[in-house]
Amino acid sequence: MTRVFHRSLAHDYPVAVSGRGVTIRDSEGRDYIDASGGAAVSCLGHSHPDVLAAMHAQLDSLAYAHTSFFTTAVAEELAQTLVADAPEGISHVYFLSGGSEAIETALKMARQYFVEIGQPQRRHIIGRRQSYHGNTLGALAVGHNAARRVQYAPLLIEAEHVSPAYDYRGRAPGETPEAYGLRLAAELEDTIQRLGPDSVIAFIAETVGGATCGAITAPPGYFRAIREVCDRHGILLILDEVMCGMGRTGTLHACEQEGVSPDLMTIAKGLGGGFAPIGAVLVAGRVFQAFDRGSKLFQHGHTYLGHPLACAAGLAVQTVIKRDNLLANVQAQGAHLARRLGETFGNHHHVGDIRGRGLFQAIEIVADRGSKEPFDPALKLHARIKAEAMARGLMVYPSGGTADGTRGDHVLIAPPFIVDAETIDTIVERLAEAVDASL
Ligand code: PLP
Repeated sequence: MTRVFHRSLAHDYPVAVSGRGVTIRDSEGRDYIDASGGAAVSCLGHSHPDVLAAMHAQLDSLAYAHTSFFTTAVAEELAQTLVADAPEGISHVYFLSGGSEAIETALKMARQYFVEIGQPQRRHIIGRRQSYHGNTLGALAVGHNAARRVQYAPLLIEAEHVSPAYDYRGRAPGETPEAYGLRLAAELEDTIQRLGPDSVIAFIAETVGGATCGAITAPPGYFRAIREVCDRHGILLILDEVMCGMGRTGTLHACEQEGVSPDLMTIAKGLGGGFAPIGAVLVAGRVFQAFDRGSKLFQHGHTYLGHPLACAAGLAVQTVIKRDNLLANVQAQGAHLARRLGETFGNHHHVGDIRGRGLFQAIEIVADRGSKEPFDPALKLHARIKAEAMARGLMVYPSGGTADGTRGDHVLIAPPFIVDAETIDTIVERLAEAVDASL
């Protein structure tokens, strides 16, 4: 009898015993193609020998040193690497153990930044509906995944939410994508005016939406317009690239393709590729300088931040991605995946939308293609698709729709960056079978 308090108590889990390349094997000897990298984590697949060697070497010298006593060479080197490749203006890196911690840190850092520069009256954070920033209380508050959030509502800090950039459901008939993006930026401006521009700390958004809405890219010009709105009022722009960042969309950072640089950016999953728990906040120079000129103490910290073993994993993962030019493979195989999804689901009566960028693609399932009406979420279609996919040796990452019909079930496909075209063909074939078997 299991003593692990599993995520779902409604079913039994297979026991994963080994992983090689894009495949995980269970204790019954069944292989699963990891077409979602877990939750868009395992960007190098499993058991990459160079990453394992770097981790072993780090363990042989030092596994842990508390960061209130020491820094380490491996944390410094990883920070150097990340800053060298970061969007314009980023000067420092604050390490954490995962995505939610990175979000909590970014929110607190943003708030303390304004205390440091003498604007302690700023207190509002604005996020977007249909977003996910993590399961800790601050992250749940600024995010807007209804199912994950609803029962904890009494514990959540107050946060504002504006419309997501959700072309499939949000763009008006006849409206151009560009005009849609500007309309959304105007909504942010209106919200800031309503709250009082000098009371707002930050706007937070996933550059490409992931866990709640499935690989949703913003309309062209949207993020540039958002950046302008934030700058006009001295508000910080926090981009959450925990899921969509670190190469997943074909460039190291998704915001490179939007032509904007954030003040704070959260990264995690692909940073360590699942070899160790690691996340980080990339910090713009002006934010760092406020602390440096001010109290010289960010009133924060976690026991495992900057963990040497996690930093060694992160450094090795990032080194392999560059050395093997894997972003070129993300672009090429991402295009292949998009094409195969289009060919397979383009005329499917229950697939309303196919979207994404790079190796970060999704399909949205609907009851009716014409009206875009989602299936009743009580059917738990996403869970059925996941189970049918697992029965066919395929891991994909589905999420449910909302009871108010503002979103359908979707399935996220985010394979490791080492995936080849043949494996993608198998992924799409098995996914098509799983979808049809679930409906
Ligand atoms: N932010 C985004 C965009 C995410 O997708 C996630 C996790 O899926 C998180 C934050 C939270 O990360 P973690 O699960 O590592 O706490």
